[in-house]
Amino acid sequence: MTTIDHGRSLRTSSSPFSPLEMGEAPSCPRCRTDDYLIFEEFVPARQAEHSTDLIPASTSYTCSECGTFNAHAVPASWRPPQWFWYS
Ligand SMILES: [Zn+2]
Repeated sequence: MTTIDHGRSLRTSSSPFSPLEMGEAPSCPRCRTDDYLIFEEFVPARQAEHSTDLIPASTSYTCSECGTFNAHAVPASWRPPQWFWYS
């Protein structure tokens, strides 16, 4: 009698990331802190044109301590400190 293990299905699409969870909270790689960061731009997560893809939120910033410039995607829930929207 042959036993077939139906319970061991392969999960082919088990990415641990959803697009909204991409990115890291900003931090200066040299100073290893976000204490000195000056945020120059912040773009919230948005839908791509002509697509259903969601572009992750991104930000660019300079460290006022060492001058390092950085720009990358950030988690969707992240906002720059003391950030508020002009309307
Ligand atoms: Zn720095």
